[in-house]
Amino acid sequence: MKYTQELCPVIQKEQLNKTTFSFTVASKTAVQSMKPGQFANILVEGKTLRRPISVCGFSRKEGFIRFVFEIRGEGTAILSQMQEGQSMDILAPLGNGFDIDPQEKAVFVGGGIGVPPLLGASAPYGANATVLLGFRSKDAMILADEFKANGADVRVATDDGSFGHHGFVTQLLADRLDEAPCDVIYACGPKPMLRLTAAEAEKRGIRCMVSLEERMGCGIGACLVCACKTSADDGSEKYLHVCKNGPVFDSREVIWE
Ligand SMILES: Cc1cc2nc3c(=O)[nH]c(=O)nc-3n(C[C@H](O)[C@H](O)[C@H](O)COP(=O)(O)OP(=O)(O)OC[C@H]3O[C@@H](n4cnc5c(N)ncnc54)[C@H](O)[C@@H]3O)c2cc1C
Repeated sequence: MKYTQELCPVIQKEQLNKTTFSFTVASKTAVQSMKPGQFANILVEGKTLRRPISVCGFSRKEGFIRFVFEIRGEGTAILSQMQEGQSMDILAPLGNGFDIDPQEKAVFVGGGIGVPPLLGASAPYGANATVLLGFRSKDAMILADEFKANGADVRVATDDGSFGHHGFVTQLLADRLDEAPCDVIYACGPKPMLRLTAAEAEKRGIRCMVSLEERMGCGIGACLVCACKTSADDGSEKYLHVCKNGPVFDSREVIWE
């Protein structure tokens, strides 16, 4: 894993809803070897442990990386206070990311704050992407227009029915796969959503890549906090680490518990 520590000036800050922020930072080095689905470990002023945040988008040519995150606790609250012109201290790119092939027909399934990494991953697919997004309510909805602007077929579900389909995003997945098959599914979101997505994919024999989130310490495979149970080719169980071996796994590898 080749990563670098870089001080990245914030060039654009936007508040997407009450608790969700978009930060675009300038990058010269970290961006050079970046892949969609990778993440950065971001230093938070006054905290020892960095916070892992996925790459929502990046441009090597223009030299920027975008992060979208929700305030969950103290660390993300402090990060959200950063202003344009200040520098973000990032360790990136970390993790393995998505292996994408924009010639394939791909379905992207995102839930809540799992949606941001799918924006950068789906962009190269244009109209070859179907993007299924699930949110608690219309107020929590983020980035749907940006997926549409990339040419994707975008469908939204909300738990409370305040926008789009009333129910879970996994119902949109079953409906979409009944309409037409696809080559691959990419998913990021809460574990129950990922588990149902993986089951739907397995039932239909479709390759499915899931991006997992575990509480993380170092982000580089040294502290071994973010273990996840997987099955090896010979059927035995083994623990892998979300930061180093993931966060993206083939769904058939993951032992869902
Ligand atoms: C690979 C990866 C990518 C992520 N990408 C995003 C993203 O794009 N947008 C976004 O909003 N959130 C993302 N998260 C979740 C985000 O890292 C946590 O919400 C954040 O670390 C919470 O920190 P806090 O100080 O605000 O909360 P607290 O709960 O106060 O955090 C305390 C400690 O727990 C760790 N921690 C807490 N929750 C998580 C979590 N879910 N995952 C990992 N460590 C956690 C923190 O790093 C910190 O060490 C991602 C997590 C992982 C593992």
